[in-house]
Amino acid sequence: MKPAPFAYVRAADIGHAIALWQQSGLDARLIAGGQSLVASLNLRLADVPVLIDIARIDALKGITLTDVGLRLGALVTHGEIEHSALVAKHAPAMHEAAPLIAHPAIRSRGTLGGSLAYADPAAEWPAVMVALGATIITQGPGGERRVPAESFFRGLFETALQDFEMIIAVEVPAMVAGEHQVVRELARRSGDYAMVGLCGRTIAAADGRLSGTKLVYFGAGDRPVLARTAMAALDAGAGLEAAKAALDKDLDPADDLQASGTMKIHLAKVLLGRAFAPLLAQAKAA
Ligand code: FAD
Repeated sequence: MKPAPFAYVRAADIGHAIALWQQSGLDARLIAGGQSLVASLNLRLADVPVLIDIARIDALKGITLTDVGLRLGALVTHGEIEHSALVAKHAPAMHEAAPLIAHPAIRSRGTLGGSLAYADPAAEWPAVMVALGATIITQGPGGERRVPAESFFRGLFETALQDFEMIIAVEVPAMVAGEHQVVRELARRSGDYAMVGLCGRTIAAADGRLSGTKLVYFGAGDRPVLARTAMAALDAGAGLEAAKAALDKDLDPADDLQASGTMKIHLAKVLLGRAFAPLLAQAKAA
C-alpha cells in the first residue's frame, strides 16, 4: 500500500521542530524512527498533511549517567538500549526488554520516544517506564515539563502530551542495592507484540522480605496496568499463590485478537510465577 501524499520538512533542533509543528497545524506529525507511523500511513490508518522529521536533532540523542540515574534522549533506539553497558548495569529491565521488541531491523530505527508517544498498550517501554518510576521529559510551546511515567499513559494510544508538545528525554532512576528487575512476556512468535507481558521490580532485604514491589503488565489493558493488590501481597510476605490470586482483582483485560481476557489473566499468573518464583526461592534459601 502507498500513503496519501504528504509534505515533508526536517527540523534542525527542538525549537525548530515545535515552530514547524505550530506553523503546520495539529494534524502534522513528528516522525522519529517511522516504524509505527509509516505503517499507519501506508495502511491509510493515518492521514497526515505534513511530516516533521526530528531524526537528526542531536539534542534528542544519547544515553548518559547522571546523579540520579540514566538520561536517555527521545531518539535513542531500541537497539542502542539493547547494546548499552550503562543500561545493562543501571536499568537491567530495559536491557532485558529491548531484545523482545520486534526484530533487529526495526530495533535499529525505532526509538524510545516514538514508542512512548505512540503508547501502544502491548508495547514494552511504557510498562517498563512505569515499573522503574521513570520521568518523561517533554518540551512544547510552554517550555519543559516533567511527567511521571505512571501518569503519562492515559488510555489506548493516549498520553499526557499536550498540543505541539514532544518527548525530549526520559530519566530512569538507577537500580539500588538489593533491587531485582525482571521482564517476562508471552508472544506467539519471537518479535511479535506480546499477548501479555510483565515488568517487575522489587527490593529484597537480607531476611528475604520484599519491599517496593512493582508489577506492571502490558497487553492486559488500555495502558500499562499496575497490579496493586498483588504488589501489596508480595510486600506483605503473603507468597506467590496469594499474589497470583490477587491478579483476578487487579486485571480486567478485554478480549483481543491475541487472546481472550480470561486467557490473558491466566498468562499473567504464569508470568508472575516465572518472574518471582526464582527470586522468592533464593530469598528463602538465604
Ligand atoms: P514513529 O513511527 O516515528 O512515530 C510513532 C508516533 O510517535 C507518531 O505519532 C509520532 O508523531 C510520535 N513521535 C515520535 N517521536 C516523538 C517524540 N519524540 N515526541 C512526541 N511524539 C513522537 N513495538 C514494541 O514495543 N514491541 C513490539 O514487539 C513491536 N513489534 C513491532 C513489529 C513490527 C513488525 C513493527 C513494524 C513495529 C513493532 N513495534 C513494536 C513498534 C516499534 O517499536 C516502533 O519503533 C515504536 O513503536 C515507534 O517508534 P518510532 O521511533 O519508530 O516512532
